[in-house]
Amino acid sequence: MSSIATLGSHCALQVLKGAKDEGFKTILICEKKREKLYRRFRFIDEFVLVDSLNEVMDKRCSSILKENNAVIIPHGTLISQMNSTEIESIKTPIFGNKWILRWESDRNMKEKLMVESRLKIPRSLPSPSEINGLVIAKRHGAAGGKGYFLATSEEEYIKKRDKLIREGIVKGDSDLYLQEYALGVSAYLQYFYSELTGELEFFGVDRRYESDIDGLGRIPAQDQIDVDLIPSFNVIGNSPLVLRESLLEEVYAMGERFVDAAKRLVAPGMTGPFCLEGVYDENGKFTTFEFSARIVAGTNLYIDGSPYSALIYDEPMSMGRRIAREIKIAKNKNQLDKVVT
Ligand code: AMP
Repeated sequence: MSSIATLGSHCALQVLKGAKDEGFKTILICEKKREKLYRRFRFIDEFVLVDSLNEVMDKRCSSILKENNAVIIPHGTLISQMNSTEIESIKTPIFGNKWILRWESDRNMKEKLMVESRLKIPRSLPSPSEINGLVIAKRHGAAGGKGYFLATSEEEYIKKRDKLIREGIVKGDSDLYLQEYALGVSAYLQYFYSELTGELEFFGVDRRYESDIDGLGRIPAQDQIDVDLIPSFNVIGNSPLVLRESLLEEVYAMGERFVDAAKRLVAPGMTGPFCLEGVYDENGKFTTFEFSARIVAGTNLYIDGSPYSALIYDEPMSMGRRIAREIKIAKNKNQLDKVVT
């Protein structure tokens, strides 16, 4: 591999900056409408301009990437733009395990992998008729929280679901997954697992700022009742967090269980970056409501390294750079087959 490519969105800047720092040629698959933005950054060597990011599967893109001996770094936009079959059909080598991305997109497979990892997870509800307490209705795939809503009864669920149907955001119940709402302090735990060394590295933690649920706290309770609003959970940005040091042992234990479970369920396992997403309760116990089996945008915070990567590396190490470093080491050891699929 002599170049690193990614789609122009999500964490492309971090990924390509890291790739450049590790000596790779960098390629951005970029929608024409975003060209002006990305041209501002000199570490992007080549642009493949497209009308739609789906063109990454087309012959033209594939042959440019092949000529450049490129590897694609997958991120949330790849998952939200394409279905699993499309992603699996991409001819260009993909960093990590592309088969595990299906386990991220499909809610039932996702739950299976979390159960196999022995993570504490919120109960999922097979039917709205079972709502008996606060639940969150979530869309499938990497929707980024858009169109999610809360309900405490079946009646409330139906009212909100019908509004989303009228707005064309969901088609019906099959588009929504119901899960008990987990209360606590949210934390998104970022890891990197190296297939080359067999080591798990904890890279950082972030919190998400989501619109408009996170804006609601600024409005007095009476006004919250008066405005007829269905708050959504659309991610707008991320802020940093460091954990109490006493929580770290369990952070590593959860990550290791996840890596082990992925090895059993979806060969070749969880290679590269991933994220466990959930909340800490009053006893410091973590409930995981989600995972991402690839780099998350919350790592964009730590482009110069995080309070945790600084403990492992004596140089600024972003997640994007860590990915490029892994590809470089694999290439030098003739073990590229261990880090791409
Ligand atoms: P997700 O797409 O699952 O990452 O969810 C988007 C957002 O919805 C999260 O960042 C949380 O704010 C919220 N969320 C999702 N699932 C739960 C849950 N079970 N309990 C509490 N909040 C949740």
